[in-house]
Amino acid sequence: MAILEIRIFPDPVLKEVSQEVSSFDSKLKKLLDDMYQTMLDANGIGLAAPQVGVSHQIAVIDVSEERNNKLEVINPKIVWKDGDTPSEEGCLSIPEYRDTIRRSKEIIVEAYDRDGKEFELKADGLLAICLQHEIDHLNGILFTDRLSRLKRELFKRWYSKRYTSESGS
Ligand code: ZN
Repeated sequence: MAILEIRIFPDPVLKEVSQEVSSFDSKLKKLLDDMYQTMLDANGIGLAAPQVGVSHQIAVIDVSEERNNKLEVINPKIVWKDGDTPSEEGCLSIPEYRDTIRRSKEIIVEAYDRDGKEFELKADGLLAICLQHEIDHLNGILFTDRLSRLKRELFKRWYSKRYTSESGS
């Protein structure tokens, strides 16, 4: 297994809408293994393929404290959602920034596993939040895109200050 390079905002691949996966081959399985390893290495709870430069509808998730409850979703779709909850989020592609947005409280997702078998998953709590965050990535949406206009401006200012001063020195 390999640790992949995580793409950092504003890398353009993070804004792309990912393509559906159509072949469930050994290449896909290797990518899933590498993505999970990369996510654990970065102490993340979710990682979407665009974050490692692959514009395909693939994400790995593990919200367990023991890091032993891997979930892989391929071509995931939210088919039902309910409720509304505040969610404090961060993103491996936007280092050091956290902010609160709103998400659905409960969702049902339809997806495929690594063997191409379709499954349905009902989720709430952190898992529901994480699934929504990762599925957003597959549609080219970052959690900062869901901030209010004012907060988004503050984020952009913070981010450019943080990252231009570093590279300029
Ligand atoms: Zn993210």
